[in-house]
Amino acid sequence: MAENERAATMKFKPIFLFLIFTTNVSSAQEVLRPDVPVAIVGGMLLDGYEAEPIHHSVVVFENGRITAVGQKHNTVIPDNAVIIDAGGKTVMPGLIDAHMHIDLTGHGSYERYYEFMGGMERIDEFMTIAAKQMMRAGVTSGLDLGAPFQILEFRERIRRGEIPGPRLTVSGPWITRLDYDTVPDEYEIIIKSPREAAQRTRELIERGSDVIKVWVGLTKEDYVAVVNEAHKTGVKVHAHLYDPVAIRYAIDAGVDVFQHVGSARNPPYDDALLSEIAHKNIPVVQTIAHRIWVYPATVAFPERLYDPVYKKDMPADIYKEFISSFENFHRLSYMHGIGQETRNAEKSASQFIEAGAYMGVGTDAASPLNMHTEAMWREMSALVDSGMTPIQVISAATKTNAEILGQFDELGTIEPGKLADIIIVDGNPLRNIEVLDYVDIVIKDGGVWYAERAAYGPVTEIGHAF
Ligand SMILES: [Zn+2]
Repeated sequence: MAENERAATMKFKPIFLFLIFTTNVSSAQEVLRPDVPVAIVGGMLLDGYEAEPIHHSVVVFENGRITAVGQKHNTVIPDNAVIIDAGGKTVMPGLIDAHMHIDLTGHGSYERYYEFMGGMERIDEFMTIAAKQMMRAGVTSGLDLGAPFQILEFRERIRRGEIPGPRLTVSGPWITRLDYDTVPDEYEIIIKSPREAAQRTRELIERGSDVIKVWVGLTKEDYVAVVNEAHKTGVKVHAHLYDPVAIRYAIDAGVDVFQHVGSARNPPYDDALLSEIAHKNIPVVQTIAHRIWVYPATVAFPERLYDPVYKKDMPADIYKEFISSFENFHRLSYMHGIGQETRNAEKSASQFIEAGAYMGVGTDAASPLNMHTEAMWREMSALVDSGMTPIQVISAATKTNAEILGQFDELGTIEPGKLADIIIVDGNPLRNIEVLDYVDIVIKDGGVWYAERAAYGPVTEIGHAF
């Protein structure tokens, strides 16, 4: 449903007024923006499309929006612009993580983590840490698929510029028939009938959820009930899917986005199912790197868990708990099936790519060992390993993800009129996608944030340190 159509539907329902504001992706962050135009000059520009790079590029933005894109010889730079020198670097759209959890830190055990959290009082502290880490990793927008209702106010605080963090699109608690013992009750809505599924979907939307997440254990009728109710107000339904029977239900019900499906740990799916998903152009967000790529990377280089940045990011007691959860990480229950999962991945990680599916990019960060600081480049690297080219993955993580979130009008590519969500990366990700680990500068909503190593020149005058 188009935005204006949706607004019209809601005109007579005052209860939905909140929703009209919360689904608007632009935001009031003037306070964080420089009060002059900014020109990023001399970098290799990847504009989000699967196109040739623009060399020696110029990108100008002002008041939170991109005003000009081109090359030095054909782009006018306003006289009063502050120049950011992007020589030796790549300029590209801010990354969008289409499946993440902002309440998580990468702690080794969900059970211990939620026990440590001890109710929901400290959840804002955890979310604040993750929000900053995502920004530092170049993630300027994220879809949170499963959090207590506290995330609604947290989303607004980021939007108002009170907390540095990515623009959030959120589901709130997920809908399921199974009570998942590991998570606190606030994370799940347990239903017993399709009628209840529809009713709880309506309540989530009225409270401010941007999308609906359905988890496991649902019947075919449940999927239909949720989808029909959500689509009345143009809200998309994202399904957590592994089981082929549930995938079939989700296809038939018209679920909008398939999450985790083909996340590599499962045995391969049959060709007919893959072909149908590809031909129906249902977006697939695989989340393949967590576990399958992250585990061997940690075995090879356990030092990654002890990056001093985590100590800097976290209050002492949270850091102590975080770091102690990595002892004997090979015994973590989250990794128990890793042998079989790794063997499955040899076929299943690449299945959707080979079938020609509509590929988004999501990380499931910060699942165990899968920290927000690294999750996106690891997922993008895993997708390159599985058959996509670097430019395809970059376009999927920016342009396609914006499409999946229904925000392409404002985000996902670098072109005049769009919101200024831009990252500057040290090096050439087309040669080696893993240079996305070196994000120097992050521009979100026109506000400039810089890493310590990029703290030079005018950037320090107009920007904010991470
Ligand atoms: Zn998840």
